[in-house]
Amino acid sequence: MPYKDPEKQKVGRKVRGTLYRQSHRQELNEKSKQWSKEHKEKRAIITKRYRLTHQEEVRAYKKAYNASHRQEHTEYARQWRKEHRDRSLAITRNWRHKHPEARRAAQARRRARLRNAIIEPVNYIAIDLRDAMICGLCHKRIARKDLTYDHIVPLVCGGSHVESNLQVAHLSCNSAKRDGRLPSQMRLVL
Ligand SMILES: [Zn+2]
Repeated sequence: MPYKDPEKQKVGRKVRGTLYRQSHRQELNEKSKQWSKEHKEKRAIITKRYRLTHQEEVRAYKKAYNASHRQEHTEYARQWRKEHRDRSLAITRNWRHKHPEARRAAQARRRARLRNAIIEPVNYIAIDLRDAMICGLCHKRIARKDLTYDHIVPLVCGGSHVESNLQVAHLSCNSAKRDGRLPSQMRLVL
C-alpha cells in the first residue's frame, strides 16, 4: 500500500497526471484541437472567459509575442503595402491629414538639420503633455490642427533641436515669431 494517506494519494494522482500529459503531449494536443474544431462556440466562450480573467497574462504574452515577431511583422506589413498600394496610400494620406503636427514636427527637425543645430531624438507627445497644449507664445489653448513646435531659443540664435528647447505653439504664433512679428496677444504678455 504505497498511498494510504488521502493527501498523499491526491499528490500521487497529480504527479501521474502531469507525467501522463508530458508523455502524451502530441496526442492530447491533437485531441484538444479536434475538440475545438467540433465545439467552436464553446471554445470561443472559454477563450473569452480566459482573456477576461487573465488580462495581465494576456497583455504580457502579446507584448512578448510582438517583441519576438517584430521582423516578421515588418516584413508582412511591407508585403501588404506592396499588394494594396492604393489602400496603403489612402491610409497614409488620412493619417497625415489627421496629424498635421507630425509634418510640422518633421519640418522643425529639417530646419534644425539645415542650420547644423544640435539634434536629439524628440518625443513630441511628451512635449504636448508637458505643455498641456497651451501655446508657449500666447498662453492660449491649441487645437491639434493649429499645433506646431517652436524652438524657444531660435535656431538662428544657436538654439538646439532638443525637448527642453521645444514648446507647443500655434501655427500663427510660431510663424509670427519666426518673421519677427509679434501677435497682439504676445505684446500684452510681454
Ligand atoms: Zn499662440
